[in-house]
Amino acid sequence: MHSALAVEHGVNLKPYNTFALPCMAHTLVRIRSEADVRRVVDDPELGRAPKFILGGGSNLILTQDIKPVVLKVEVPGLRLLATRDDAWIVEAGAGERWHDLVSWCMDAGLPGLENMALIPGTVGAAPVQNIGAYGLELQDRFHSLDAVDLHSGQVHNLDAEQCRFGYRDSVFKRERTGAPGHGLAGR
Ligand SMILES: Cc1cc2nc3c(=O)[nH]c(=O)nc-3n(C[C@H](O)[C@H](O)[C@H](O)COP(=O)(O)OP(=O)(O)OC[C@H]3O[C@@H](n4cnc5c(N)ncnc54)[C@H](O)[C@@H]3O)c2cc1C
Repeated sequence: MHSALAVEHGVNLKPYNTFALPCMAHTLVRIRSEADVRRVVDDPELGRAPKFILGGGSNLILTQDIKPVVLKVEVPGLRLLATRDDAWIVEAGAGERWHDLVSWCMDAGLPGLENMALIPGTVGAAPVQNIGAYGLELQDRFHSLDAVDLHSGQVHNLDAEQCRFGYRDSVFKRERTGAPGHGLAGR
């Protein structure tokens, strides 16, 4: 039913977390595009299953085998979208390594992210905890992100205000409570 998706079963996550913990994923799907997320959501089995999103595995301690479907984010892409008087707007795929984005910008003569060089992990995880270092946080350089709702498959563009960044915090970490402006954890 999900022939266009890269679905694997019984995957050892040892290479995919920085502690190299040998934890097994029952099902792992490599996500290489927004369309892949929609395919997961539309799939009769995968769509209903609980999900676990894996970036570079550098902010995780895997203590047991993972029964939820692991969505391993591998969306590629780095490009300059716009040059403005006050900023360059660069788009990066969620699966790119964060440091590769910083290096790419530096090589292209686009300064701004260098305080956050060498932070481990992926671009997609960066807004989840609003990464930061040396007095600079992602929110200081952030324009917007495209997020795919794991329930509906719809793509939403969220700006910094909608991400509700805090110290190593964002709307993506906060639980859904049903209250106005509640969190998006799990979505
Ligand atoms: C040695 C070391 C140094 C570090 N230094 C810093 C530092 O200076 N500053 C700092 O801020 N952090 C630092 N960190 C923490 C780490 O770099 C960040 O938390 C980073 O954002 C994790 O990225 P990741 O791709 O490895 O995320 P993972 O560990 O794979 O995932 C972390 C969380 O984000 C979720 N997630 C990951 N990708 C996505 C996605 N695309 N969409 C939705 N949810 C997603 C996961 O489900 C999980 O809950 C450091 C970590 C290490 C090991």
